[in-house]
Amino acid sequence: MNRQALDELKQQIPLMGYLQAHDWYPARPLSRGRWMGLCPLHGDHQPSFLVDPNKDLFYCYGCGRGGDVIRFAELYHQVKFPQAVAWLRQWRGAEPLLQEVTRFYHMQLHRHSEAVAYLYQRGVRSPALIEHMRVGYAPGSCLRGWLTQLGHSLPALRQSGLVTDAGYDTYVRRIVFPLEGNLYGRSLSAAAPPHRFLPGAKGGLYAWEQVRRYSEVILVEGLFDYAVLWDAGFQNVTCSLGSHLNAHQFRQLCDGPSIVYLAFDADGNGSGQQAAQCLSRSLRERGITTRRVSLPEGHDPNSFFVSGGNAQEFHRLLEEACP
Ligand SMILES: [Zn+2]
Repeated sequence: MNRQALDELKQQIPLMGYLQAHDWYPARPLSRGRWMGLCPLHGDHQPSFLVDPNKDLFYCYGCGRGGDVIRFAELYHQVKFPQAVAWLRQWRGAEPLLQEVTRFYHMQLHRHSEAVAYLYQRGVRSPALIEHMRVGYAPGSCLRGWLTQLGHSLPALRQSGLVTDAGYDTYVRRIVFPLEGNLYGRSLSAAAPPHRFLPGAKGGLYAWEQVRRYSEVILVEGLFDYAVLWDAGFQNVTCSLGSHLNAHQFRQLCDGPSIVYLAFDADGNGSGQQAAQCLSRSLRERGITTRRVSLPEGHDPNSFFVSGGNAQEFHRLLEEACP
C-alpha cells in the first residue's frame, strides 16, 4: 500500500470516530479542541490519554505511547503494521453497514410480537435495557431488499455474511445484538442453531470501555446473562460471548480490574464450571484475583433472575464466591 492510499485510509477513519466505536469516551475537554480520557491501551484509572481530533493523533501520558489511527489499531489489537492496515480497511467497509443493519433490526423489534414475547421471557423487559444494548430483531426476508434499495451491492452483502450465497437474509427469526465489528443472533426457533455470528472475530469483551474502570468486574458467558445483571443494577458486568475467551478478551481482563468474578453457567455437564476453573487458573498466574460464583445447580445468571432471583440474592452469591 503506497503513501497516498495510507493517507486516504486515515482520512476515511477519523481517530475520534474509531475510538468511540470502540466504546471510548472523552472524560474532559482541553484547549484547542483536544480531549482527555482513560487510556484504552493500559490499565488506566485517571485520564491520561490525550486525543487531538484536528490532527488525528493520540498520546498517553501513562504508557507513553502515541501516534495515528493505524498506530492505535496496532497497539489496541496487538498486531503488526500490515495487519493493522488490513483490519482498518475491513472495518471501514463493514462498520457503516453494521450500523445501518443495527438500526434496521432495532426498528423491526417492536413490529414483531414474537420477538418481544421472547425477550420478555428471557427477562429483557425494560426499555432502558433494550436501548442500552441496542437489541433488535431479524425476522428474515427483508434485510437484503432494504439494503439493496439503499444502494449496497449484493456481492458486498454476501461478503459481509449478512446475506447467504443463495441470496437470502442470513439471520432469520433471531434476536440480534450489535457487537464490536460483528452481530450476534439468538434464534427464537429450537430448530436452528441457537447462537450465530457473522464471519470474523467476535471482538473484545462486551461493553468493556464502560466496565474496565471498575476494580471488581463480573464476567458472564452470554448476553442474556449480561442483560439481567445490568438491569438489576450491576454496572460492572461484562460478557465473553461463550465460555472461552479469545486472546484479546483475555488481555483486556488482565489489564483492567483487580478482582474478576466468574459467573459462568452451572449446567448439568459441568462445562461452564470447567471453563471457569481453567480461566481462573490462567488469570491467577497473571496476578489477578478471581472468585467463582456458584449458582444453583442447572442455572445461569439469566435463569437465576428470570426464575425470581433478585439483586440482593446475587450480591450474596458474590460474597460467598470462592477463589
Ligand atoms: Zn496508556
